[in-house]
Amino acid sequence: MNNKKYHIETLAIHAGQSPDPVTLSRAVPIYRTTAYNFKSSEHAANLFSLKESGNIYSRLMNPTNDVLEQRLAALENGAAALTFSSGTAAIYFALTNICKCGDEIVSANNLYGGTFTQFDAILPQNGINVRFTPVNDFSAVEAAINEHTKAIFIETVGNPTLEIADIEGYAKIAQKHKLPLVVDSTFTPPSLLRPIEHGANIVIHSLSKWICGHGTGIGGIVIDAANFDWSDPKFTLYNEPDRGYHGLRFAHDLGELNKLAFILRLRTVGLRNQGPTLSPDAAWIFLQGLESLTLRMTKHSENALQVAKFLVEHPKVAWVKYPGLADSPLSKKYLPLGAGGMVVFGVKGGSKEAVKLVDNIKLFSLLANVGDAKSLIIHPASTTHSQLSDEDQRKAGLQPELIRLSIGIEHIDDIIGALADALSLV
Ligand SMILES: *Cc1c(COP(=O)(O)O)cnc(C)c1O
Repeated sequence: MNNKKYHIETLAIHAGQSPDPVTLSRAVPIYRTTAYNFKSSEHAANLFSLKESGNIYSRLMNPTNDVLEQRLAALENGAAALTFSSGTAAIYFALTNICKCGDEIVSANNLYGGTFTQFDAILPQNGINVRFTPVNDFSAVEAAINEHTKAIFIETVGNPTLEIADIEGYAKIAQKHKLPLVVDSTFTPPSLLRPIEHGANIVIHSLSKWICGHGTGIGGIVIDAANFDWSDPKFTLYNEPDRGYHGLRFAHDLGELNKLAFILRLRTVGLRNQGPTLSPDAAWIFLQGLESLTLRMTKHSENALQVAKFLVEHPKVAWVKYPGLADSPLSKKYLPLGAGGMVVFGVKGGSKEAVKLVDNIKLFSLLANVGDAKSLIIHPASTTHSQLSDEDQRKAGLQPELIRLSIGIEHIDDIIGALADALSLV
């Protein structure tokens, strides 16, 4: 199928799949197999030496996962993609596919809690240091870049404070310093925003959120735009012979596939030798979710905007943040089709009142997730971001009275009714 001709609604349903040639199954089959038969020893040898492409073992590739990878690559305007067992693994393996001991990353500081901890506490154990800068503070980004820097990392809409990153501003700096811009776009699925069209090189999603759409699976994906030159010698992982792959230099020895060096290395080193593989059963759940993604994102965005407008007017609410609320230039530029399902607000009074509201609200589920069809609520300061010190919480813009809502696709009157009732109790 020629993806270029089709709109995003169509690609979300069809891209990457041709009906199964043996069974003619219309839905994507779940290929529950560990390994694949080789036609002969020669065929096996060709697959192992990358002379021919094909399936070897499901830690490295699986036809169900392959449809999901092709579909999301098409939706994001990328060249290729690779699935992972979680969004967290996708971020970790994407970055360790660029950086090794002694390298540095410059990251925005308004990150998903688990990502912040990975950058602040885990990557440094591997000798990879992350320099945090306030989102959209480009002079701070410039000041943080040095000869060790190998990547810039941002989230499209930061968690939990929901600032919109100026992707093009970051892309300009990344290009100037010949660094890849890696973007976590989980909060803005491709029907709302496609970071590659704004200059990103690598896009990451937690599939567990809106792409799944129903709170029923954990997974992640890395999408490669194939628009970055890895043959720059400072990226030693691409320019020096790889001991794990009989001396291959990923940026030089792949022939026509040199431009896919990043994603090929991610598969052959990340998945093959470290093993954070997505199961085909989970991949199938995400494919099912993708079919209704565009419809759901429109509804999530409409409902969330209504909720934000209701909260702004409410006397017990101190402040509200929703990326589509103020007609800001960044929201006009990056999110004209809807600003997603997340709303955060502060209750007057502080942490005690926030906890009381969260404990008393009906309809909303109190849990640590976002991007479900169901409306969800949490108090981040005491849960998702409690690993951060008070100072890091403050730096990340996380006030003690902040309540995070992930607005579902229930009827808007029921969602607002539940919030109104809960606010009347605090
Ligand atoms: C959930 C989330 C992650 C982590 O993904 P998992 O699939 O839970 O590992 C990373 N970034 C953002 C923005 C998220 O919302």
